[in-house]
Amino acid sequence: MKTTNSEHMYSKKRPRFTLKMPNKSLLFNLAAVFGLIFLFGLVLFGEYEVLQRPVPAMVRKTLKTVPPDVKKTIVKEQKTATISATLHIPILMYHYVEYVQDKKDTERQELNVNPNVFEEQLQTLIAGHYTFITAKELGDIFDGNMPIPQNPIMLTFDDGHWDLDTSVLPILKKYNVRATAYIISGFIGTNTDSLTPEELQDVINSGLVEIGDHTINHPSLKGKPLAFVEREIVQSKMDLEQRYHLHIVSFAYPYGSFDRQAIHVVKAAGYTTAVSTIAGNEQNNQNRFFLFRVRPGYLTGKALINYLNYKWPQYKYYNGE
Ligand SMILES: [Zn+2]
Repeated sequence: MKTTNSEHMYSKKRPRFTLKMPNKSLLFNLAAVFGLIFLFGLVLFGEYEVLQRPVPAMVRKTLKTVPPDVKKTIVKEQKTATISATLHIPILMYHYVEYVQDKKDTERQELNVNPNVFEEQLQTLIAGHYTFITAKELGDIFDGNMPIPQNPIMLTFDDGHWDLDTSVLPILKKYNVRATAYIISGFIGTNTDSLTPEELQDVINSGLVEIGDHTINHPSLKGKPLAFVEREIVQSKMDLEQRYHLHIVSFAYPYGSFDRQAIHVVKAAGYTTAVSTIAGNEQNNQNRFFLFRVRPGYLTGKALINYLNYKWPQYKYYNGE
């Protein structure tokens, strides 16, 4: 009886566990469809991330706030200068403008803006009636030697990469837009990443790009021996001036790294302005030797304009706050 019963139970249950196997080609097609949906989602998400990314995080270690020693003394000293009013002058900071080939080069990718996006950014700024000034002109404005133009803005390119000549210059020429490039004197023609002397000469000849100095070897200048800092700041200026028959008055700190000593050397060397990597859109005589800059990233159109109007906390450094 027992056996019969269990057989009975078994035979009763059995149909519930029967799974009709679909043929292999149907399974394969389903897997392919889900696979494609997954891949499509990945691509969409990737694009979404790029579009949403307002300003890529700096992969390099850069100085993001005004050092306390500078805040105490330099800011006070600069108060006595000609212009004490705060000027709304966004200074855009670019490094690479190219279609990065090496996808593993994350630093290059993070610091890069694709040429088509750079062109769109120029179109946005032109449509927004911005006036493109150079670093020397900003110094002239501070000294009362030049009136403040309508909606002033400054484009800056750091490090003198080869794409300054091949990617940036053709776009600047197309829209007749002026910019400032900070050149590392010891890098020109000595590595595959930097401009050759001929390419730099081409950039100079365009008449659209003011050449500023960015030291001989791109070291951090904060807390370094005076002689070392002087050599990097003074010798690089002299080298570039003699080699390319220039008069250089604009400086950029490597990694945005500076202190009171570096500022004094920059002033004594005859520079009229220096740019930092501290975020801000407001400039003032008090920070003319550590001008604030912003990274436009991939922003264009209204998003870019909003970003340029954003008030960063640094404006508090003025008026003794
Ligand atoms: Zn640099």
